[in-house]
Amino acid sequence: MQISTTRTSTPTTEDALARILAEPGFGTHFTDHMLTVEWTPSTGWTGARVTPYAPLTLDPATAVLHYAQEIFEGMKAYRRDDGSVWSFRPEENAARMVRSSQRLALPELPVEDFVACVDELVRVDERWVPDAAGEKSLYLRPFMFASEAFLGVRPAQHVTFMVIASPAGSYFKGGVDPVSLWLTEEYTRAGRGGMGAAKTGGNYASSLVAQQEATAHGCDQVVFLDAQEGRYVEELGGMNLYFVHDDGHVVTPETGTILEGITRASIIELLGTLGHTVEERRFSIEEWREGVSSGRITEVFACGTAAVVTPVGALHQAGGSTPAPASVELTNRVRQALVDVQYGRADDAFGWMH
Ligand code: PMP
Repeated sequence: MQISTTRTSTPTTEDALARILAEPGFGTHFTDHMLTVEWTPSTGWTGARVTPYAPLTLDPATAVLHYAQEIFEGMKAYRRDDGSVWSFRPEENAARMVRSSQRLALPELPVEDFVACVDELVRVDERWVPDAAGEKSLYLRPFMFASEAFLGVRPAQHVTFMVIASPAGSYFKGGVDPVSLWLTEEYTRAGRGGMGAAKTGGNYASSLVAQQEATAHGCDQVVFLDAQEGRYVEELGGMNLYFVHDDGHVVTPETGTILEGITRASIIELLGTLGHTVEERRFSIEEWREGVSSGRITEVFACGTAAVVTPVGALHQAGGSTPAPASVELTNRVRQALVDVQYGRADDAFGWMH
């Protein structure tokens, strides 16, 4: 894919950039450039370009504003101590975006084009990748939307793919302190045949009221159960879950209606090398409660690009609470192993870094 580059004539000054990178927060500051590619049935993907970061002008009839044909990805670029910049398994994000586009009747962006686009924006805005200190990174947000101005409900005939980037610090204000969870019994995020496995804006729109419920109960994050039986644990609003047992085996809820995390998949491989067996299977909320109460479950952790690996503390719900599991030992080991690979401080045995 040919990508043209037009650099901004007013780049962020070194002083302003240093202030942002010292305290980047999450998702509030954006780099100097953005990448855009457009698709129509007759042209395919064309006009790939990096241009100065700027607002979009959209026709009020733009399809995504009405019918929500939007998919996105979340991934990071990391700076190593030697100054080089690496991304983590970008082909996996590209492949997941292909799966999301299939579900939403959007055109497929080939994996190699996705990776080329992300690489090019990171190259142009490389000075925005923070130093490794404090586990900072450059969060990358590729997204695709129906940009056709048409109110008929149909697969869009004009689609736009973009990449923007935002320097990121630690995701949770409490750092790696355990997150408290609220179990929503009213709301679900995905049903059979629905869009749960796709990374699409609508899934996040539907999660917000449940997240509000969690916040109102003093909890950090919400846990969703399956829509059909209201019994099986799916995931959090933006992270997958792992349950560590006292005999060393580890369970993560099976896929189908959950968003298959790149972090989740990586941890399955990592746990194997640490000598743990991992089961992907249905995992009920009773099993969680009883497991923690009896001590059979020794750790629960959540994982995702933004937060990497985070210990899960207490689980609260309308009828009562399940206390925090006893340990965070494996959680911390997995977290460290992953972070060490991402920042180039450990051997990249799986060839994950790009
Ligand atoms: N589940 C949901 C609903 C998410 O939004 C995310 C974040 N992308 C994850 C799980 C974790 O996925 P990943 O490890 O690829 O970030």
